[in-house]
Amino acid sequence: MTLVMKFGGTSVGTGAAIRETAELILNARDEHGQVVVIASAMGSKPVKVTDLLLNGATTAVEGDSKTYLQISEQLRQIHFQAIGELIQDEQERQSVERDIGAFIERYVDLCQAVWVLGELTPRALDTIGGMGEQMSVRIVAGYLRQLGHQAEAIDATELIITDDTFQAASPLFAQTEAAARARLDPLLAQGTIPIVTGFIGATSSGITTTLGRGGSDFSAAILGQVLQADEVWIWTDVDGVMTADPRLVADARSIPTLSYLEVSELAYYGAKVLHPKSIRPCVENGIPLRIKNTFNPNHQGTVIVPDNGNGHSGIKAVTSINHLSLVTVEGKGMIGVPGIAARTFGAVAKEKVSVLLISQASSEQSICFATSNELAKGVIGSLENEFASELERRDIDRIWSFDDVSIVTIVGAGMRGTPGIAGRIFSALGSENLNIIAIAQGSSECSISLVVDEENAKEAVALVHGLITDNR
Ligand code: ADP
Ligand code: MG
Repeated sequence: MTLVMKFGGTSVGTGAAIRETAELILNARDEHGQVVVIASAMGSKPVKVTDLLLNGATTAVEGDSKTYLQISEQLRQIHFQAIGELIQDEQERQSVERDIGAFIERYVDLCQAVWVLGELTPRALDTIGGMGEQMSVRIVAGYLRQLGHQAEAIDATELIITDDTFQAASPLFAQTEAAARARLDPLLAQGTIPIVTGFIGATSSGITTTLGRGGSDFSAAILGQVLQADEVWIWTDVDGVMTADPRLVADARSIPTLSYLEVSELAYYGAKVLHPKSIRPCVENGIPLRIKNTFNPNHQGTVIVPDNGNGHSGIKAVTSINHLSLVTVEGKGMIGVPGIAARTFGAVAKEKVSVLLISQASSEQSICFATSNELAKGVIGSLENEFASELERRDIDRIWSFDDVSIVTIVGAGMRGTPGIAGRIFSALGSENLNIIAIAQGSSECSISLVVDEENAKEAVALVHGLITDNR
């Protein structure tokens, strides 16, 4: 049996966490046979290595030649402290320290180049932003070796071949399968545990790309697919997927099973516990996905399965996304004019902006959609261009945005067959005079999304969370 296991930032965030992680890796190998490990950059909250790396680069491009030097010291301190705690073997320690030291020097060189050139391309951001994983895997592998096991740190640039959309690259599965099998199969056959960098890949010409923030989950799913893994396990710092973000709702509870569809909606609408893209390779190949807690490994966590026909008939979880704007195109003359929606989203697509939610008044007098606050202005400009003549003729009265709103999404496949759920949600919010600005139902019918003022989002989440009864 082959298991792909991914460890998030906190799971490798300190020497102590890496000890836990190593134990879980070794247990899994003993129980299940072959294990491929994916690790994120060190990220003991609130200090995340990837944020530090990127912060140095973005300050450098603004002409600041000091911050990245300070950051390089901080990076050295974080990594060397973990190495000191974990690796006593003199030779092993020196070799890992040399590797990490070389990455930090390269980081300084790259930031200096950014500072001199005054230019920071997406390509450079990927090279710089991916270095955290390259460092963490070397420490984890070094520690496993010091414990007497065969382990090898591997840069996913050797395994995951992507297109060249820097910052949000997509994997090329056929090439990835060939590269990953050629590199990993022999290691697995000889009993070596591969410790692979999350988050990064490379173009077919070898230039580093990244899969987007949270992309280590995606790395695990990609390798799960191409290696035909029996299961993919995501190890994090909470007991699986919960009924709400535990940072927002104190009594959030772990959910034992969720369907792919349910967890996709949750991930897409903000539940940070899983990268939305990581679900697809698992769905398409029927690979069970488990989410477990590194710091509470005996808890069963959450298992994601093709369909959970377990009869749960209500709301399973609620999630939210903040810092959004609701852009609205409205006008009485829009009724019956063909192609307004197509032109609206065409103009949005031209800006390369992604839209989170769409809602249309039944009278067709308005179309609205949610996008991030920062992008709304540009989108409105592009819509005003597109509809210049309609605006002049007053077929469209105005294009505007409602800023600082949040989407609150309520998820549960069983909601479909249960009458009155929407009514219960609205009366819960209504009882606290909480205004709902717009509503949309997911096409899968296993989610309902509400747009509310950002100020009310936390309360809305708590109110809806109060409606969740048993969750199986
Ligand atoms: P990792 O570094 O392991 O990938 P993340 O920070 O990306 O960890 O994801 C785990 C975090 O996701 C949790 O600590 C929790 O704060 C947050 N989170 C948000 N929504 C949920 C939810 N519905 N269930 C569980 N965790 C959630
Ligand atoms: Mg994550």
